[in-house]
Amino acid sequence: MGIKDTPREKIPWYPTIHEDKCTGCRTCIDFCSHGTYSWDEEKNIAVVANPYNCVVGCSNCRPQCPGEAIEFPPLSILKQFQ
Ligand code: SF4
Ligand code: SF4
Repeated sequence: MGIKDTPREKIPWYPTIHEDKCTGCRTCIDFCSHGTYSWDEEKNIAVVANPYNCVVGCSNCRPQCPGEAIEFPPLSILKQFQ
């Protein structure tokens, strides 16, 4: 099955935020136009609210994070879907 034929929820590609490194700058929320992130009012940090909104293979927001708090899986995990 090709990556385009695979249901999005079956592909484990999305960011993870290391909460201890997040400074709460909101850069990732503003940067991603797909609504992957939102703001946690209680913790005062960004959270990955809609992981499957993340575009498969995209990691463009990672270098935008000043705290280096955003992590992605290695691209190699996508090979099994190709
Ligand atoms: S860009 Fe990084 S430090 Fe800023 S809110 Fe997002 S995860 Fe937190
Ligand atoms: S990797 Fe791309 S699509 Fe995914 S959350 Fe970051 S900017 Fe949005």
